[in-house]
Amino acid sequence: MTLRPILLHPDPRLKTRAAFVETIDDDVRRLGEDMLETMYAAPGIGLAAPQVGVLSRVLVMDCVKEEGAAPRPMVLVNPAIEWASDELNTYEEGCLSIPEQFADVDRPAEVEVSWTALDGSAQRERFSGLWATCVQHEIDHLDGKLFIDYLKPLRRQMITRRMQKLKREKARA
Ligand SMILES: [Zn+2]
Repeated sequence: MTLRPILLHPDPRLKTRAAFVETIDDDVRRLGEDMLETMYAAPGIGLAAPQVGVLSRVLVMDCVKEEGAAPRPMVLVNPAIEWASDELNTYEEGCLSIPEQFADVDRPAEVEVSWTALDGSAQRERFSGLWATCVQHEIDHLDGKLFIDYLKPLRRQMITRRMQKLKREKARA
């Protein structure tokens, strides 16, 4: 497994709709494994393929937070939201592509998601709590959408300016 560099906002690849995965081959399996390793190393609870520069509909997540609990590494290929609750939940979200910036985002509290697993099997599960927020945040990435797109323009512009500055500093270092 290999750690892959995580793209930082602003980057046109983070604003691009990712392509449907037609076949789960070795490249897709390797991508899923690399993304999990990259996510755990960051550390983060979710990562979408466009964040490592691959414009395919693949995301990984593990929202197990309890101390000592077994991890639950998940790889979702072609995930789709089949149902969303009317009830909303507010979480302070962050993003590995927008480090150290956090903001409250309202999203459906529960969602039912279908996807294909790396073994090719069809999966369907209802997520709630942090898992529901995370899977929606990551599916947004596959559609070229970032959590800051839910914020008021001024707040979004402020965060984007901070990120541009951070990228300039990183480029110089
Ligand atoms: Zn993100």
